[in-house]
Amino acid sequence: MTLHPPHRLLMGPGPSSADPRVLRAMSAPLVGQFDPVMTGYMNATQDLYRRVFRTANDATLLVDGTARAAIEAAVVSLVEPGDRVLVPVFGRFGHLLVEIARRAGAQVETVEAPWGQVVDPQRVADAVRTHRPRLVAVVHGDTSTTMRQPLADIGAACAEHDALLYVDATASLGGNDVRTDDWRLDVVTAGLQKCLGGPSGSAPATLSDRARDAVQARRHVEEGLRTDDDEPRGTVIGSNYLDLAQLLDYWGPRRLNHHTEATSMLYAAHECARVVLEDGLDATIERHRVAGAAMAAGVEGLGLRVFGDPAHRMHNVVAVHVPDGVVADAVRQAMLDDFAIEIGTSFGPLHGRVWRIGTMGWNARRDAVLTTLAALEHVLRAQGVTVPTGGGVTAAQEALAA
Ligand SMILES: *Cc1c(COP(=O)(O)O)cnc(C)c1O
Repeated sequence: MTLHPPHRLLMGPGPSSADPRVLRAMSAPLVGQFDPVMTGYMNATQDLYRRVFRTANDATLLVDGTARAAIEAAVVSLVEPGDRVLVPVFGRFGHLLVEIARRAGAQVETVEAPWGQVVDPQRVADAVRTHRPRLVAVVHGDTSTTMRQPLADIGAACAEHDALLYVDATASLGGNDVRTDDWRLDVVTAGLQKCLGGPSGSAPATLSDRARDAVQARRHVEEGLRTDDDEPRGTVIGSNYLDLAQLLDYWGPRRLNHHTEATSMLYAAHECARVVLEDGLDATIERHRVAGAAMAAGVEGLGLRVFGDPAHRMHNVVAVHVPDGVVADAVRQAMLDDFAIEIGTSFGPLHGRVWRIGTMGWNARRDAVLTTLAALEHVLRAQGVTVPTGGGVTAAQEALAA
């Protein structure tokens, strides 16, 4: 049976609709993974992502898999059993970091904030001083709550106390300011399906020299896989597929065989970065800010309330309180059935209590914002909510004109 996916406007918290340019790039013919053409493409992709991450890090690469693969690669490659890891938690993806670190055998400490707020960086700095973790692992933009954690002061505290700092920037990179070098972030990872306008399945990552040295110092053996190694190395621990030390040997000048690079996904990742950098990284972030602000103004124009601390909201996803008496999932279903527009709900304490509406990547666009608001007005009215006629579209247009 041939698959014929229906038209959808993906306005949830991710995935977002892929840029057609990226989909076209993915249909290019394959080349072998050690073909000089392919290694040239890999080098070019590394250069592009250095610019997207705002870093001079030599160790910049793609992890083949969804964003979670790079998150796991970072944590399992940096942590050894018994290491202390500190995780600031302000949403679902913080809990994911806790889980992955525990699976890697870490002793995990957390600093928590209520959903809808960020963690005070001073509390993180204090916890770094108290617990002296080897690694601090933190989410930048947590789509479960739409909050964006300030990172610069956490970076400074980690550097001062010799802790490595890992950041999950999956949902923020390309649509919010992410300054790997200026903020002294040691490892930053992402995915394509949020602000970068691609499909999920490739995860850009970058490592500072300090982080690269740490993953390479870890013990692992390759049992005959690396015949050019002078000496075999210690005991096997952690992941093979997600071992950043081996991935860096594969992406680095040695080009040691590891997995088969996901060629079509590399084409996608390459094109995603090109789209961002052609317009300019700052201009792309600004496009996300404007689209997100218009969406927030629009939902307020419909009489709905925006969730979370306004000082720390991400640009690219807004959480909206579900009015009393309205069934959140019925509205989502009607948006999909009648308008082919996908919006999201949330997890845990927020499930059924907020909708999450994304404006990211290719969909951080005026027409996508206005179409979604027009549809939402009709769906809410059909569900018995009193909404001002044209209130969403008008407010969004005013925000866009401002
Ligand atoms: C969406 C998201 C992910 C998603 O990971 P996938 O493996 O690509 O599904 C990870 N972290 C954050 C903060 C996200 O918002």
